[in-house]
Amino acid sequence: MADKKDYYEVLGANKGASEDELKKAYRNMAKKYHPDVNPGDKQAEEKFKEINEAYEVLSDKQKRATYDQFGHAAFDGASGGGGGFYGGGVNMEDIFESFFGDSGGFGDIFGGGSRRRQGPKRGADVQVNVQVSFEDAIFGVNKEITLEMHDTCETCKGSGAKPGTTAESCKHCGGSGQERFQQQTMFGTMTSVRTCSICRGEGKIIKDPCTSCSGAGRIRKRKTIEVAVPKGIDTNQTVRIVGKGESGEKGGPTGDLLILVHVLPHKFYTRQGMTLYVKVPISFTQAALGDEIVIPTPYGEEKYNVKAGTQTGTNVTLKSKGVPNVRNNKVLGDLVATLTVEVPTQLTDKQKEVLRLFAQEMGEETKEQKKGFFDKFKK
Ligand SMILES: [Zn+2]
Ligand SMILES: [Zn+2]
Repeated sequence: MADKKDYYEVLGANKGASEDELKKAYRNMAKKYHPDVNPGDKQAEEKFKEINEAYEVLSDKQKRATYDQFGHAAFDGASGGGGGFYGGGVNMEDIFESFFGDSGGFGDIFGGGSRRRQGPKRGADVQVNVQVSFEDAIFGVNKEITLEMHDTCETCKGSGAKPGTTAESCKHCGGSGQERFQQQTMFGTMTSVRTCSICRGEGKIIKDPCTSCSGAGRIRKRKTIEVAVPKGIDTNQTVRIVGKGESGEKGGPTGDLLILVHVLPHKFYTRQGMTLYVKVPISFTQAALGDEIVIPTPYGEEKYNVKAGTQTGTNVTLKSKGVPNVRNNKVLGDLVATLTVEVPTQLTDKQKEVLRLFAQEMGEETKEQKKGFFDKFKK
């Protein structure tokens, strides 16, 4: 025991420290080296024992006076066996409760741990994939979705107890969800707290569990939920429906339903964000001479005057005939129509004749003249 550290040094206090100063010093040290804060750290554990030992002596006026006079020698003989000198026992929980008030234990301050009571738990979010037609994505749609998830047990209304009975307060822990246990240590009996082994921290025991859910308070079942898919939704966007996920545990809040949308392709339209694209075929003569045509939009047909001499690939933008903004459906994207000149196939003899005449009129060369052109080209 000769190498035993000075008790004041252990607490980081002065020899002349007042009771309050000692208490403060002890709190600081104990907080720092408490096993809950340093799990598995042997050194911290040793240090923590030293701190308690030191405070046990220095907080007692008589012992402190003896220690001040004789040092460790005053206690050596007694500390030889088992609990030794400090047989009174240190109630760790009482110490920590006095430290942190009654609001909670040590565990709460340090972010949980085994002592934390297992309270209500939020239900899980449920995700489903939903396919939506191209038009439904533009105009919005109500979809019925059937899926299986944990839902509140209707028989017991989520309590887990058989109807007509209620959960009883756990007698083992008095409803606190925590139990104290005693440990023999080198410096006495210590009382610690852990999660109640009978009620598993819930503080309640269901004597007559609900037969529908076996006391769980929730049950897996198929549910049909109507979902309003908003206008303007696009592939890979998610609709979150708050409170339509799985039921919480022990009265916890319900999770959310997440609907991941996949928009099916359209035969004619393609889409990029809020802009719609469509190819509109026009004939050669319409392109050359001009004509009134009709451009299809999701909102109906739009008349459009093709100017004479329109080239193939000309884009026509129709304002606000595209996809609504999913966050504000009053705002609409545009529709871009690409005019595509179609070359006629399967011509009648008469049509061929007319086209040859046309070519001549345009000063175009015939087959035979073309041969001559290639000869010239080679030269
Ligand atoms: Zn039930
Ligand atoms: Zn209990």
